[in-house]
Amino acid sequence: MKNWFYHLFNVIYPVSCMGCEYVLGTGESVLCTTCRAQLPLAVHDLKNNNQVKELFYARVPIEAATSLFYYEKIGTVQSMIHNLKYKRQEHVGEMLGKWLGYELTQNADFNTIDLVIPVPIHDTRRRSRGYNQVTKFGEELAGCLGVRFRESVLIKKRNTVTQAKLNQTDRIKETNSPYELNEEITAGTHILLVDDVITTGTTLAMCVRELQKIPDVRISIATMAVSV
Ligand SMILES: [Zn+2]
Repeated sequence: MKNWFYHLFNVIYPVSCMGCEYVLGTGESVLCTTCRAQLPLAVHDLKNNNQVKELFYARVPIEAATSLFYYEKIGTVQSMIHNLKYKRQEHVGEMLGKWLGYELTQNADFNTIDLVIPVPIHDTRRRSRGYNQVTKFGEELAGCLGVRFRESVLIKKRNTVTQAKLNQTDRIKETNSPYELNEEITAGTHILLVDDVITTGTTLAMCVRELQKIPDVRISIATMAVSV
């Protein structure tokens, strides 16, 4: 019955691949098998040459850091994240979370994580978008690692303009943080902080500074993509 409904639904509203727009088959979600195989995976390269972790050297202490894909201005990764953020395609986050979640279980650097939290978005933006675009992603990562996910450990107090539009040094931006620690967390917790795309690392560094108010906290980072 379920299968019959799925096929009927697909005939009426065909679900197409976000990479090539070809109609997806049974068992395929977000992308077709061909597009999946062509994605620019970063997670394995980063084990040896960790360009994500390097972004935080001399800024904030980070235990481990990784990203699933390389971000390119044009391409399937860009179009998936665009659909997730602006087209109410929240299930993209779920698919990416399952994929990276599996990879994290294969990496010893992530086996002491206790808690997964998202970089927060401002309430105004959450209302217009309908969700925080990294929530599903974070929930899947937490599920794979067998740990808790908590949405509101950090909150965003001000709705800031896009970081890229500000003509200030990273250091100045980071001291003027819109993020605030909102919940009490046990001392010594190893937190995995998650976001969509990491570019300069400014947003994440600001969140890390706030989390450092937790005694003996350890912080690791995981994102959907890294722009290098
Ligand atoms: Zn495709």
